[in-house]
Amino acid sequence: MCENNHQTSNHPSHFENQNDSNEIPTHVELKWDEFQEKIRGFRFFDPHIHMVSRTTDDYQNMAQAGIVAVIEPAFWVGQPRTGLSTFKDYYSSLVGWERFRSSQFGIKHYCTIGLNSREANNERLADEVMEILPLYIYKEGVVGIGEIGFDDQTELEEKYYRLQLELAKEAKLPVQIHTPHRDKKRGTERSMSIALEHGLDPSFVVVDHNNEETVKSVLDQGFYAAFTIYPFTKMGNKRMVSIVEEYGAEKIMINSSADWGISDPLAIPKTAALMVSRGISHDVIRKVTYENAIEAFAKSGQIHVSDFENGLSSDPSDKFHGNSVLRGGQQPKRNQNSLFID
Ligand SMILES: [Zn+2]
Repeated sequence: MCENNHQTSNHPSHFENQNDSNEIPTHVELKWDEFQEKIRGFRFFDPHIHMVSRTTDDYQNMAQAGIVAVIEPAFWVGQPRTGLSTFKDYYSSLVGWERFRSSQFGIKHYCTIGLNSREANNERLADEVMEILPLYIYKEGVVGIGEIGFDDQTELEEKYYRLQLELAKEAKLPVQIHTPHRDKKRGTERSMSIALEHGLDPSFVVVDHNNEETVKSVLDQGFYAAFTIYPFTKMGNKRMVSIVEEYGAEKIMINSSADWGISDPLAIPKTAALMVSRGISHDVIRKVTYENAIEAFAKSGQIHVSDFENGLSSDPSDKFHGNSVLRGGQQPKRNQNSLFID
């Protein structure tokens, strides 16, 4: 007895912590089978992901992890565009080829169309873009104006943000707001007050890239609060779990914002798995990973849940303007864990 006590007290403290506390460990190896077991029965909707920058491996993994639909906001491509025609081609790909490519992997693809905040600072080009936006925002599968808002919070950014809010109001479309990385709290407040000033119904506005500093005000004012789960910057998913524990599920949604940078297209299913482990109810998880995003963007009249809730059936022989994703009889699924490529 005495000896046992003695042994216990000599354990290094991190052993005791492992047994006694509920703290989330700093690193957990993701085992695909266990992961899939945790999220079995869930389906996910990622309302912010830039698939033009992602690979077919991503599409396969996303479909396998239960992602049934995505929204791809129009954004900056990593370097400034030099002319109107590249904007046109980009918007056309969001409503065309990328949507087709996604469907070939069994994932329903929607998009939002807008002039991003960075390129709002090129006034000559921004004016030209504003003229063509109405040609795209009424197309099938366009569920909002986005992503728009502030980056450096310049006067020109404000000018084109306001013009696009008016466009959204006229088209009765939801708005997807990108909030700045720098000076986030002020930028978020400013985005919301301008939207209200233009008479937008906050239930038509999704304020994105929130954190602990901004969430309360966004929800209090009746906007949707979206959270980007991002490695290193924005939000990690352990912090996200705490936010859901504190604020509940109403009007909160999670996204990956996966793009050309270091990001994770499985951010939603991984966060759902973490929430399951933390004992958060399945109803709450379903709301923040699926239902709330649908509720917000279905106001566009473009989202019909029956199109994707049981998965899309894809025909590998389908073509888009004569072009197929799958070359010469390839199948949309391949075994990524095999050394052999055949
Ligand atoms: Zn984005």
